[in-house]
Amino acid sequence: MRAEASQLKIYDSLAGEKRNFTPLKEGFVGFYVCGPTVYSNVHLGNCRTFISFDMVYRYLIHLGYKVRYVRNITDVGHLVDDADQGEDKIAKKARLEQLEPMEIVQQYSLDFHHVMSQFNAIPPNIEPTATGHIIEQIQMIQAILDNGFAYESNGSVYFDVEKYNESHPYGELSGRKIEDLISNTRTLDGQEEKRAPLDFALWKNAAPEHIMKWPSPWGVGFPGWHLECSAMSTKYLGEEFDIHGGGMDLKFPHHECEIAQGTASNGKSPVKYWMHGNMLTLNGQKMSKSTGNSILPKELFTGDNKFMEKAFSPMVVRFFMMQAHYRSTLDFTSEALMAAEKGYDKLMEAVKTLQDLKVTNESSMDVPALIGQFYKAMNDDFNAPVLVAQLFEAVKFINGVRDGKQTISKDDLASLQTAMHDFVVEILGLENAEQGGEEKLAPVMDLVLDLRQQARANKDWDTSDKIRDGLAAAGITVKDSKEGSTWS
Ligand code: AMP
Ligand code: ZN
Repeated sequence: MRAEASQLKIYDSLAGEKRNFTPLKEGFVGFYVCGPTVYSNVHLGNCRTFISFDMVYRYLIHLGYKVRYVRNITDVGHLVDDADQGEDKIAKKARLEQLEPMEIVQQYSLDFHHVMSQFNAIPPNIEPTATGHIIEQIQMIQAILDNGFAYESNGSVYFDVEKYNESHPYGELSGRKIEDLISNTRTLDGQEEKRAPLDFALWKNAAPEHIMKWPSPWGVGFPGWHLECSAMSTKYLGEEFDIHGGGMDLKFPHHECEIAQGTASNGKSPVKYWMHGNMLTLNGQKMSKSTGNSILPKELFTGDNKFMEKAFSPMVVRFFMMQAHYRSTLDFTSEALMAAEKGYDKLMEAVKTLQDLKVTNESSMDVPALIGQFYKAMNDDFNAPVLVAQLFEAVKFINGVRDGKQTISKDDLASLQTAMHDFVVEILGLENAEQGGEEKLAPVMDLVLDLRQQARANKDWDTSDKIRDGLAAAGITVKDSKEGSTWS
């Protein structure tokens, strides 16, 4: 473990304050993040949440923790109204597209994985699916029934919120009072099965035409969305685990219900630190698929969308997201992305420059103190924007050394190189994609430029221009000089 690990503070949404981070088991962290419901392409809002938690995961690893990161795939039970009513989101899409639900699940799981790798997010250690854990879900429901916190009704099982609230405060995470919740919850049509409108489904009886259904002690049906996460997190991380993350919009009812289910089944609140990421907005409104106010990653990378003036690369978008704290909202605009692009280039350029700086006997800056600031920022509830500001202090210094206005010693150069790599590449997850690409392209480019050289020697200007224009269209510029041609 790194010494800095003892300084980490995490804002726990349940406590409503930053708390020193002490894992349940020394050296290990159990980490669960609610994954996507795979019925459509993930939009950039979804991506922000997953990128934020990727940064959290990366920092925990950097500190020396052995992290078990579990992020589920919701492939059944998430209903259209995000509660107990309406069609299953995946089944609905399958019906509209005349496909099997599992074809929908496969298509959008692949898209999700592809997008996450474009954003350089590390895959979780376990990625359980809800349909793969029906038995565990049935067992957990049975335990809640046995403990008297749920009841069966017409082949469905509901969680008895008022009964639970007699011994545990329901609403503690989202800061809601049960009296207000009761008076604000209307009795909806088709909910007669419930004893009270606030009760939520753990298991739902399936109508004959329903496709995704399983046998259970209560008849043929399917699990409730909230229950799935409780069952999967318990299976892989235990009845009590360290960190649970998700978007702010999942606090209520999803996470509130997870606390109730965990407590009702084994008597303990399941999570030590609750983390919630804030929303990505577009034109000031929450990015959301249902309102049409969203951009897909692909549309941003190609520039094919009605919101942005140009295309932006995945690394620029990731850097842009790191410029805001994960608990603040972030608004997506062309101008902000343009500025992020400049900043990203400047940062990556400095990382390159740092590789061959000249050293002297003494440094004109307190380099260890600067690196200490990097840790201080991240230990303060993963404050990436403050880290970025400190990284730009380093950029200024690096460029100063390059220009002969500042000096750096041999030892400080070595520590700064390590620290910049750790924080820029390993923790913020910003790899210089172009740099890696250039290495792979080099042998191909040697061949292409050789052919072009031959064409020029033969005064075949058509071919030579065709090659240069084709390369330009692919984003590669060729410069000719007396010594030959270079490319970038
Ligand atoms: P879903 O697939 O709808 O269950 O959402 C997957 C994740 O994306 C959840 O953690 C949501 O909180 C999160 N999410 C949805 N919309 C946004 C948004 N506009 N900004 C940030 N996170 C979001
Ligand atoms: Zn969940």
